[in-house]
Amino acid sequence: MKSLVVKTAHCPQNHPCPSVEVCPVGALTQKGFHAPDVDMNKCIKCGKCVNYCPMRALVLE
Ligand code: SF4
Repeated sequence: MKSLVVKTAHCPQNHPCPSVEVCPVGALTQKGFHAPDVDMNKCIKCGKCVNYCPMRALVLE
């Protein structure tokens, strides 16, 4: 079963993460400008954030 992985090395970590806003279940949170954290208990693996992040920092694998 796939799970959402945050590739922190791909994230410039210098901006509000736009993918936080597209998650339909509020599974993504961000502290400051750090790479976002994913709550795997909430994530339904829909892939919206994966498609939205231009840096490909969010991956279902
Ligand atoms: S895969 Fe979907 S449910 Fe999971 S964190 Fe990304 S947008 Fe939210």
